[in-house]
Amino acid sequence: MQVINPATEQVIQELREDSSTSLAQKFGLLQAGQQAWAAQSLSERIKIVLKFSALLEENREELAAILSSEVGKPLQQSRNEINGARARIQWLCEHATAYLKEEIMSDSSGMLEKIVYEPLGVICNISAWNYPYLVGTNVFVPALLAGNAVMYKPSEYASLTGIEIAKYFHAAGVPEEVFQLAIGAGAVGASLLDMPFNGYYFTGSYQTGQKIYTQVAHKMVPVQCELGGKDPLYVTDEVTDLAGIAAGTADGAFYNNGQSCCSVERIYVHEKVYDAYVSEFVKEVKSWKIGTPTEEGVYLGPLSRKAQIALLENQVKQAVDLGAKILTGGKAIPGKGYYFEPTVLVDVNHQMDVMKEESFGPIIGIQKVKDDEEAIALMKDTAYGLTSSVYSVNESRAQHILAQMDSGTAYWNCCDRVSAALPWSGRKHSGFGATLSHQGIRAFTKTKSYHLRQP
Ligand code: NAD
Repeated sequence: MQVINPATEQVIQELREDSSTSLAQKFGLLQAGQQAWAAQSLSERIKIVLKFSALLEENREELAAILSSEVGKPLQQSRNEINGARARIQWLCEHATAYLKEEIMSDSSGMLEKIVYEPLGVICNISAWNYPYLVGTNVFVPALLAGNAVMYKPSEYASLTGIEIAKYFHAAGVPEEVFQLAIGAGAVGASLLDMPFNGYYFTGSYQTGQKIYTQVAHKMVPVQCELGGKDPLYVTDEVTDLAGIAAGTADGAFYNNGQSCCSVERIYVHEKVYDAYVSEFVKEVKSWKIGTPTEEGVYLGPLSRKAQIALLENQVKQAVDLGAKILTGGKAIPGKGYYFEPTVLVDVNHQMDVMKEESFGPIIGIQKVKDDEEAIALMKDTAYGLTSSVYSVNESRAQHILAQMDSGTAYWNCCDRVSAALPWSGRKHSGFGATLSHQGIRAFTKTKSYHLRQP
């Protein structure tokens, strides 16, 4: 398997994909090692995971360079990602004891009732490339803390980072029999589905998530799917600081080249502030530096995958054919590397894919609305349900709108953010189950309910 640098299109490394034989061997190792891992005290496992986090910190520059070389994100965004993952690890380690310890629910008349959280066993984590440290941490860290062994399949676009993650887990003291890598593309992921894992935790597209969910259903083991989104954002007419809001929401749409599951994917703006907002938004987008990921000050590097360019070109072409206007950008940048101009479209509507299908790139449609009712109807017109955002001064107005959104996350005066303390979960085509928070720790356990009667 070739690892290609999306900024230069050069092959930076060749890796051997796992075969079904090597996967079976790795699975056997994990099965043999899991119980001893679970038998260690939680505080010992926490210590080892914190050591892993310290190793990420010590090696951050090198790890950020590797990540940027294979996914094309600007170096500073790679550093930010590693820092962000460390903050999540910290939260998970600080709260694991509280959420994994047994709970006594009642103790009276000689009958004690308690819940014990047991590890699932050997779990499979099939992951995405856009934030390998963050979406990886959401799964493998709580899984390990809860006493599971983990087969981690990094995306084929982030394999070098996957290899580094495994290296530092092992260096920190996670045994080889507890954390293993599956290297390869979709076919390797598909082979994992045929193996007897005790749970499947997937981060990726709706299309793949649907295949995985269907294929493993007969096993009757826990499955979680963290999938894509078409996240709406609404700017009401009673906002102050339009320039600040335009800059913040543009960042929410374009950070990591728009390749975030919770990127703002479509914007609705009240007609009273529409012109001013759009003008500030475009000013912000035009101020960004586009360049190679290693150049300091670059905000937009190349896209991670070449195939996405055609999807973005098609969305732009279809939108323009149906009457949209391009205010800036609109096409791939010629030359080496998978670069695409940051693109702002107006006069858009819900006949256009750009307002309905995940773009996962540096392109945004901004639609004018006359009132909250129209904004609500458009925001709700989606197959996805990851996040929704409202900008307003009046909190109850925002709460009234957000309460109607069928999404796992609701933002008031913010967007494109994740908190370790809150469940990260999608609805509808954005998936189901939760990572992070108490739910995301217990997601890697099975409960046993004890009814203990004294003789
Ligand atoms: P993808 O679905 O193409 O691939 C994800 C993983 O699945 C990869 O490791 C891939 O090798 C594997 N895979 C592909 N086909 C498979 C098969 N048939 N069986 C088993 N495994 C298979 O997704 P991607 O391009 O890596 O990631 C982008 C998508 O992920 C976007 O839709 C994005 O919104 C979503 N995402 C969601 C979240 C979230 O938390 N909700 C986070 C990050 C990314």
